[in-house]
Order: sequence, then C-alpha cells, then structure tokens
Amino acid sequence: MIVLSGMRPTGKLHIGHLVGVLENWKHLQDKYRCYFFIADFHALTENPKNAFEIVQNTLEVVKDWISVGIDYKKSVIFVQSKVMEHAQLHLILSMLVSLNRLFRNPTYKEKVEELARRGIESKLVLNVDENRIEESINSTLDFIFKTIEIENDKSKSREQIYRKLKSDIMELLRTTLDSSIIIEQFLPNAEISYGFLGYPVLQSADILIYRANFVPIGQDQIPHLELARELARRFNSLYSEVFPIPEPILTEFPKVLGIDGRKMSKSYNNAIYISDSSNTVKEKIRKYFTDPNKIRKNDPGRPDICPIFYLHRVFNKEEKEEIYIDCSKGKLGCVDCKMKLFKKLDSYLEPIRQRREEVSSKEIFDILNDGFIEAQKRAQQTLELAYKAMKFQ
Ligand code: SF4
Repeated sequence: MIVLSGMRPTGKLHIGHLVGVLENWKHLQDKYRCYFFIADFHALTENPKNAFEIVQNTLEVVKDWISVGIDYKKSVIFVQSKVMEHAQLHLILSMLVSLNRLFRNPTYKEKVEELARRGIESKLVLNVDENRIEESINSTLDFIFKTIEIENDKSKSREQIYRKLKSDIMELLRTTLDSSIIIEQFLPNAEISYGFLGYPVLQSADILIYRANFVPIGQDQIPHLELARELARRFNSLYSEVFPIPEPILTEFPKVLGIDGRKMSKSYNNAIYISDSSNTVKEKIRKYFTDPNKIRKNDPGRPDICPIFYLHRVFNKEEKEEIYIDCSKGKLGCVDCKMKLFKKLDSYLEPIRQRREEVSSKEIFDILNDGFIEAQKRAQQTLELAYKAMKFQ
C-alpha cells in the first residue's frame, strides 16, 4: 500500500511541523511504502518571482526531515519538479475538470475573499469603447442598406428599420459585455494566476501518478482530496481502470501556538524552529504570551487559554495534569512553568539538532537523487498505463 504526502519548501521547519506532520510520517513509514516529496511546483503558485529561494529552502527542509527521523531507507524522498511525469499527468487531468469545479475549490474561494478583504478590486481586462462599437454598427448597417433590398416592408420607414436593427445589435452586445464583466469580477485576474486556480489538479496528479492508496490529511483538507478521487473515477470510467481511489488517513494535528499566541507560522515570525539553538529556544519561551490575567505568581491562571500550556500538552504529557491544577490554583508562576517547558522541549530537540549538524549537503543531494530515481520509475509506469488506457500511444 502506498502513502503519498508532501510539503512546500518554505524554509526551515518549526515545532508545529514536527508534531503536526513529521511525527505522523515517522509512524506511517513503518507501516506503508511512503513517498514524501518537496512540493516545489506548488511553492511557485504563490511566489513565482523567488524561484531561487525554493532551491535553498528545499535543502533546509529535507535536512529537517532527516534530522527528525524520516528514513530514506524506508521511504522515497524526492523533489516534485524533478519527476516531470507530475506535470504530464497534470496536463491530462486538467482536460477532465471543468472551470466551475475549480472555482468551487475552498482555497480558491478563500483567496478571492482574502483579496476582497484587502480591498483589491478585480480589473476589467475587456476595455470597450461604446462609441467605437456604435460607429462600427453604423457602417455595417449602411453597408446592409446599400447592398440588400430591405425596404419591402412598406409599413416601416427605412429610418425605423435602421433604428430597430441598431438597438437590437446594441442590446445583444451589451448582454455579451455584461457577462464578460461578471466573469472578470469573479476572477480577480490581477492577483490570481492560472497556476493557482489549477493547483488542485496538480495536487491530484501528485497523488495519482504514484497510484497512491492513502493520503494523510486533516479534516479540513478533505475537499482537496475529493478532487483527486473524482479525477481518478472520471479517468477510470472514461478509459479503463488505472488509478486506485485514494483514501484519506485522517490525522489529528495538535494545535501549536506561537510566541504571540497565534497559530505558529514563519510568516507571523512567532515560531520555534527545529534547528534553533538551546539558548534561542530558551529566549523564545521566555517571551511567550501567557494568560494576561496572571500577573503575580500567586494569581490563579487559565491554562486553557495559555499557549505555554498548549505546548506542555504536546511535549510534557507526564506533568501536564499537575501543571494545569497548579496554574489554576495560583501555585505555579509563569516563569517556573516556562522553565519546565524549556527543559522538556530542549531535551526533545537536542538529538535532532545533533543529527542536523551531522547531515551534509552532499548527503541530502544523494538522498534526493536516489529518491528521484525510485519515484520516477513508479511515475513512468503509471503514465504508460494511463496512455495505454487512453490509446494515446
Ligand atoms: S503558569 Fe503556565 S500555564 Fe499558567 S498561565 Fe503561566 S505559563 Fe500559562
């Protein structure tokens, strides 16, 4: 059974990635044949200008994967763009999906809403000068009157017929223009690329090119997998059975909050990175947001709203109950509580840091190269099966 999962190379990984994704991958690689890939084509959909950063980030991300225990001897680790069959299958699948289906993709809708929130107006590409249209209609009608006898209808003057035809044509044009305007307003084309709209199709190709049986995802990502399932069914019924219908492995990702209490994210600049030194981790924990009502050590706190307590839940399971009670009763101060967390987190990260020091760039290149050969072999087989089913050879 094959499992497929990938990650965008957005730079070094933080502890949210570690507990959210990588710990899960470590379990999966013991149970299934796993294909783990760097989704560098996907990283281009939002940031095509900085393609060069993607290459550097790829090294950092794979280094983190290896350091935390993703095992290249058990799993296939590779870069998406190296295996060109992803792009080829993407092209074939893009013929099997309608634009309306892509407009319904939740990420696309979120992007449109985000642009609307930021006040970015959609631009009208179709820039029509009505006077010029009228001029053109006039000359066309003149031509008609000169060349065709249409004055047989004695009940109407030439002028009346002329005006009626002209208003009909103008109305027709306005209707056409209106529908163009609607399409342009729905598609804020100044900000959203064709690649972004079509990226769920590429995601589907990523899964189907390995004929993957399972994809580990959170509940909120089910709509993304649904398109891959639809496209597999559509291809199989149109041609013949090539693709297994991929199933989700539903995964609960623990919530990890950053220094400011928001979701941990590189873009919020609130993350603790896997590669952070011991001192950096200590300093970041010291700055962490806590319950604002707990000012003095003896004030009762509210661990349920405290990001430090979220981290105790994940990294300090042995003491979390005691900490919960002591915080709530005002028996534990935030400084001591943070120190307890630091010790746990630091001892968890230390072996990862050491492994990270040992991994050389050459080792990463070798791992990626071996992974590429293995991944491409499977992808080529799939593409051959697909072309054969289509009788497209
Ligand atoms: S004692 Fe710990 S859990 Fe309670 S508010 Fe302070 S940091 Fe948060």
